Amino acid sequence: MRLKVYKHLFFDLDHTLWDFDRNAEETILELLEKYDLAEFGVTNGEAFIRHYQEKNEKLWTLYRAGKVKKEYLRVQRFRSTFKAYGIEDQELIHEFAEDYIRICPTKSHLIPNAIEILDYLHERYRLHLITNGFEEVQYKKLKHSNIRHYFREIITSEKAHCKKPDQRIFDYALRQTSAGKREGLMIGDNFEVDILGAQNAGIDQVYYHPEHNGQQNSATYTISGLDELKGIL
Ligand SMILES: [Mg+2]
Repeated sequence: MRLKVYKHLFFDLDHTLWDFDRNAEETILELLEKYDLAEFGVTNGEAFIRHYQEKNEKLWTLYRAGKVKKEYLRVQRFRSTFKAYGIEDQELIHEFAEDYIRICPTKSHLIPNAIEILDYLHERYRLHLITNGFEEVQYKKLKHSNIRHYFREIITSEKAHCKKPDQRIFDYALRQTSAGKREGLMIGDNFEVDILGAQNAGIDQVYYHPEHNGQQNSATYTISGLDELKGIL
């Protein structure tokens, strides 16, 4: 027996629907080629990407905590990656960082089964997004991956003036959608940000965790593939 009747589904975007890693990797590999960085010693694109991801994650943690600004994050993640290769040409780094921001959101790879599950859920629930990404960037992603039409409200942290896991962004989302707490369900890949955030706001959660090995956690539901949502909803 299902105890709650969900009406509003709040999706996270990056890594939950939009395949961030694949899109970012494709963009970076193209840019390494464009700027002929093999000439400067960047001969292994995958290794460069691993360096970059490490720096990017650390900076995102700082950004979420309000310790750095987005303009800083956008350039610094490449500046510190290039530094590991002894590349400190600031003009090149800025151009590379700008190209990345411009091109990456135009990539359209989605997480497996995203379209099928959105088609299925769209007919049964009201779908919305709660995303910490930058407003203009997130809209570009939705447009190019052709999933904008599935969502009624798009709640970005820029619009809400606070970021997940801050409870205020979830309260804001409930207000914007006229949803009751018990009618809402948050679906996201980041445990601290999406799951604990929604939990604090009194909203049930689906933890999308592709590497899930059956280990217990405090999320209402845990899935390792988006198709499993059909078993819940
Ligand atoms: Mg995410």
